Amino acid sequence: MSYIKIDKNKCKACYLCISECPKKLLKIGQETNSLGNHVVEFCDPNNECLGCAMCATRCPDLAITEVLRT
Ligand code: SF4
Ligand code: SF4
Repeated sequence: MSYIKIDKNKCKACYLCISECPKKLLKIGQETNSLGNHVVEFCDPNNECLGCAMCATRCPDLAITEVLRT
Protein backbone atom coordinates (compact mmCIF):
# COMPACT_ATOMS: atom_id res chain seq x y z
CA MET A 1 0.00 0.00 0.00
CA SER A 2 1.28 3.45 -0.85
CA TYR A 3 0.21 6.78 0.47
CA ILE A 4 1.27 10.38 0.53
CA LYS A 5 1.68 13.07 3.13
CA ILE A 6 0.69 16.64 2.47
CA ASP A 7 2.32 19.49 4.38
CA LYS A 8 -0.81 21.55 4.77
CA ASN A 9 0.96 24.77 5.62
CA LYS A 10 2.95 24.64 2.38
CA CYS A 11 -0.10 24.14 0.20
CA LYS A 12 -1.03 27.30 -1.70
CA ALA A 13 -4.21 25.76 -3.12
CA CYS A 14 -3.20 25.78 -6.78
CA TYR A 15 -4.83 22.32 -7.18
CA LEU A 16 -2.44 21.21 -9.90
CA CYS A 17 -1.99 17.92 -8.10
CA ILE A 18 -5.68 17.08 -8.31
CA SER A 19 -5.70 16.75 -12.08
CA GLU A 20 -2.36 14.96 -12.07
CA CYS A 21 -3.44 11.94 -10.04
CA PRO A 22 -4.42 9.08 -12.38
CA LYS A 23 -6.63 7.59 -9.67
CA LYS A 24 -8.32 10.88 -8.69
CA LEU A 25 -7.41 10.48 -5.04
CA LEU A 26 -6.91 14.16 -4.28
CA LYS A 27 -9.67 16.65 -3.62
CA ILE A 28 -10.21 20.12 -2.24
CA GLY A 29 -10.74 19.83 1.49
CA GLN A 30 -12.83 21.81 3.91
CA GLU A 31 -9.88 22.52 6.17
CA THR A 32 -7.94 25.76 5.82
CA ASN A 33 -4.28 26.22 6.67
CA SER A 34 -2.38 29.11 8.25
CA LEU A 35 -2.53 30.98 4.92
CA GLY A 36 -6.30 30.63 4.76
CA ASN A 37 -6.14 28.22 1.83
CA HIS A 38 -8.41 25.24 1.43
CA VAL A 39 -5.78 22.56 1.37
CA VAL A 40 -5.83 19.39 -0.65
CA GLU A 41 -6.87 16.16 0.99
CA PHE A 42 -5.79 12.65 0.12
CA CYS A 43 -8.77 10.30 0.05
CA ASP A 44 -8.04 6.66 -0.73
CA PRO A 45 -10.62 4.39 0.94
CA ASN A 46 -9.94 1.52 -1.46
CA ASN A 47 -6.13 1.64 -1.30
CA GLU A 48 -5.79 2.60 -4.94
CA CYS A 49 -2.73 4.82 -4.64
CA LEU A 50 -0.10 3.66 -7.11
CA GLY A 51 2.82 5.32 -5.38
CA CYS A 52 3.64 6.92 -8.71
CA ALA A 53 4.59 10.26 -7.12
CA MET A 54 3.06 12.21 -9.98
CA CYS A 55 1.26 14.42 -7.48
CA ALA A 56 4.46 15.13 -5.55
CA THR A 57 6.40 15.85 -8.73
CA ARG A 58 3.72 18.26 -9.96
CA CYS A 59 3.47 20.27 -6.75
CA PRO A 60 5.45 23.50 -7.22
CA ASP A 61 5.67 24.09 -3.48
CA LEU A 62 6.98 20.68 -2.44
CA ALA A 63 3.97 20.29 -0.18
CA ILE A 64 3.62 16.61 -0.99
CA THR A 65 6.74 15.31 0.60
CA GLU A 66 6.51 11.56 0.88
CA VAL A 67 5.28 8.60 -1.03
CA LEU A 68 5.68 5.50 1.07
CA ARG A 69 5.37 1.90 0.05
CA THR A 70 4.63 -0.59 2.79
S1 SF4 B 1 0.04 21.07 -6.13
FE1 SF4 B 1 0.88 21.38 -4.05
S2 SF4 B 1 0.40 23.52 -3.54
FE2 SF4 B 1 -0.89 22.94 -5.30
S3 SF4 B 1 -2.83 22.24 -4.37
FE3 SF4 B 1 -1.52 20.42 -4.65
S4 SF4 B 1 -0.44 20.18 -2.67
FE4 SF4 B 1 -1.27 22.26 -2.73
S1 SF4 C 1 1.20 8.83 -5.72
FE1 SF4 C 1 0.13 8.70 -7.74
S2 SF4 C 1 -1.74 7.54 -7.34
FE2 SF4 C 1 -0.94 8.19 -5.35
S3 SF4 C 1 -2.03 10.11 -4.88
FE3 SF4 C 1 -0.11 10.67 -5.93
S4 SF4 C 1 -0.59 10.80 -8.13
FE4 SF4 C 1 -2.27 9.70 -7.09
